[in-house]
Order: sequence, then C-alpha cells, then structure tokens
Amino acid sequence: MAADGSGAAKPAAKKRLPRVRLPATARPATLALREGLPPSQWGENAEALYLTSSFTYPDAATAARRFADEEEAFTYSRFSNPTVMMMERRLASLEGMAACVGTASGMSAITLLMMGLLKAGDHVVCSRSVFGSTIRLLQDVMGRFGVHTSFVSQTDPAEWRAALQPTTRLLFAESPTNPLTEVCDIAALADIAHGAGAWLAVDNCFCSPALQRPVEWGADFVIHSGTKYLDGQGRVIAGAVCGPEDLLQGKLVPVMRSAGMTLSPFNAWVVLKGMETLSIRMAAQSDNALALAQWLSEQPGVARVHYPGLASHPQHALAMRQQAGRGAAVVSFDVVGDDAATLRANAFSVIDATEVCSLTTNLGDTKTTISHPATTSHGRLTEGQRQAAGIGQGLIRVAVGLDDIDDLKADLQRGLHALAR
Ligand SMILES: *Cc1c(COP(=O)(O)O)cnc(C)c1O
Repeated sequence: MAADGSGAAKPAAKKRLPRVRLPATARPATLALREGLPPSQWGENAEALYLTSSFTYPDAATAARRFADEEEAFTYSRFSNPTVMMMERRLASLEGMAACVGTASGMSAITLLMMGLLKAGDHVVCSRSVFGSTIRLLQDVMGRFGVHTSFVSQTDPAEWRAALQPTTRLLFAESPTNPLTEVCDIAALADIAHGAGAWLAVDNCFCSPALQRPVEWGADFVIHSGTKYLDGQGRVIAGAVCGPEDLLQGKLVPVMRSAGMTLSPFNAWVVLKGMETLSIRMAAQSDNALALAQWLSEQPGVARVHYPGLASHPQHALAMRQQAGRGAAVVSFDVVGDDAATLRANAFSVIDATEVCSLTTNLGDTKTTISHPATTSHGRLTEGQRQAAGIGQGLIRVAVGLDDIDDLKADLQRGLHALAR
C-alpha cells in the first residue's frame, strides 16, 4: 500500500532485463533453486558470480540509453549487479513480494528503509523488543535527524494504537524476537498502520520466508539480515528490503545509489546459494529446536523455557498460525538461581560446560550456537532497558542448528546437572 499516495510515478515503459522461464505455478521450493536471471551465453547451471565493478557498452548510443534509464541494464555495481539481482529476485519470490533491494547488512537494510521512507518530523512506532542495533539506530541515529520513535509492547496491539501520532509514518516490528521469542500479531499491526496511513515493516530474520511471509498478514515491507538463515552457514554479512516495486524503485533505490550501502556480489552469491536449502534447513532446525525445548522444560536446572512451539508459550496459538505451524529455531531458557550474581554464575557454568555448541552471538547457522544475551548481544542496554525487555542474568540463548539432538541434550545436560542440587 502506498500510504501517502506519493510512491513514485510508474517508470515509462522501458526495456527490462529478461526473466527466468518458470511456470506461473512454480512453488517456493522450486523458486528457491531457480528464480534469478537466465544463464549467460555459456549456459551455466549454477549461478555465476559477477565480480566486476563496472560494465561495458557495445556503443555510445546504448550507453546513453542505459544512463537515461530507458533500458534496464548493468552499469556500475554500486547500483546493481547480476549476482545481486539474482539474489533479490529469488528472495522477493520467496517472500511473495514484488521487489527486493539487496544491502550490505541487515542493519543497512533497516537504515535504507528509514532513509528512503522518512524525513525530519516523522514519527515511528516500534516494538521495544526488537534487535538491539535497531533500537540504537532509531533512538540515537534517526533521532539526530529529527525522526522520533515510540517504543511499545511487542505483544499488545493496543499500545501501538495508543502511540500513533498525526506524523506516524512507519510501524516497525520483528517476530519472534531475540532472545525471548515473543511473537507479535502482524495482521493486527498492519490494520493499525493502514488505518493511520502508515506503513508496516517486519524484520523476518527469525522465521525467514520458509516459515513466515509477513506480506500475507498485511506487511508492506519485509527486512532481512541475509547473515542469518538465508545464508544459513554463518559465512557472510548481507541484508535486503522487500516491498512494492514503486516504493522500492521510487524511494529506496535512489538512496541506495547515492548512499552506497550496496551488497557485495560475492556475499549475494553466497546467500543466493544458501537460499536453495532454506526450506529444508528451517524445517529440520525447527524440529531440533522443538525437541530441545521440550527436553529443557523437564530439566530441574531450568526455571523457564521461551519457545513459540511449546504450548506454554504465551503466544503459542498465534505463532503456530503465523509461522506455518513451527516455532523456528531459537530457544531461550532461564537457569535456576536466587539473585543476579548466582543467575549469571549458573548461566556461565552451563555455557562453559558445552563441548559441541559454538559460543558465539550469531544465529541462523547450521552449527548450533549458544550465548548469554545479558553480557553480549544485549550488554550495551542499560539495566533498566534489559529488565523492561525481560533479559535476565540467568538467560541463555541457543540458536539450534543441525547437530544431532542427542549430542545437544548431552551438551547442555553436563552443566545443568551441576545446578540441580
Ligand atoms: C542480525 C539481525 C539483524 C542485523 O543484521 P546484520 O546482517 O548483522 O546487520 C537485524 N535484525 C535481526 C532480527 C537480526 O537477528
């Protein structure tokens, strides 16, 4: 939806780049393997990696047409690149959205969205449980440019409605959140946004389009950190914004061309190939996560498990509806302990007793990762912000990969056993 009706004029009919020939009925598993650009004259079956900063023209008149935007073509890789475009088309098709712009990172995708859609004096409503860097970007950076944000409850749409101002242009949500896996009602937030003439953007990192397609619940923009499940093997930093063609072309692409938060072709290629196995990875990692969450719920050293796939999760029914019946692959749990110092010591001892899990804050990897949010990813929040977000010293996050589930249980059992006196 073009909330302000000012989404750029339709580009004049120009010569467009060719599309891959696929039946209109092609389903996501097929699109994940084949959407992109047709192969080059050599007929390569695996997508080519175009490591080139610029592109040549057959003659001066063609160069002039391409620069006048009468003919879609590649000119310079800060603007676009065939490998990047393959990744953009593939991701857009999986999200069910018209278009996609690749960016250097997930955070630059969010920056591009803000810079493209907003101006000084505009207002944003955002969940206070979103990714830490998103909160800092909105509060510290966008705030300096006159864009102000109200932070509200992840789970209570009434708070979002109450925070609306006449200048509200954008609602920004993420679901489920990191690390507590709180789920927001995307359809309810879309209604609130559209009723106020604003857009809804959803950061879809945790589910990926394999489990959740925010556009089906009314979202206008979808944000990705390609660093997470799209790559899926912890190799590169990448990002993307998906949305309506006119808004991406009219408002975001011009910012991207001048500000240069461009996705590298190499990183785009890694993500492009990663997406081929996205749906089977998400299914297998979610199954592993559910089994681990169920097992953790029965351990005496564990005080509480946060996982949308468990019936005990406060938004379990909503999550199952919104996320194709799966809880996704991140499980968090609080260890037992009486005070902050004990909780932290207990969490550290469980983490340090692991021999399989990788101790790192990244997630979305086939290798299971473990982290202590309060002292790492969320360490720069004030104690007040952390408490408001519910991130205690006893909290451990496990981003479940493809490790054997029995190895994962044994890995956590070692430290948990010692806590259950
Ligand atoms: C990692 C992450 C980001 C930022 O992505 P980068 O690629 O690291 O810039 C944004 N949102 C969520 C939910 C994330 O997990």
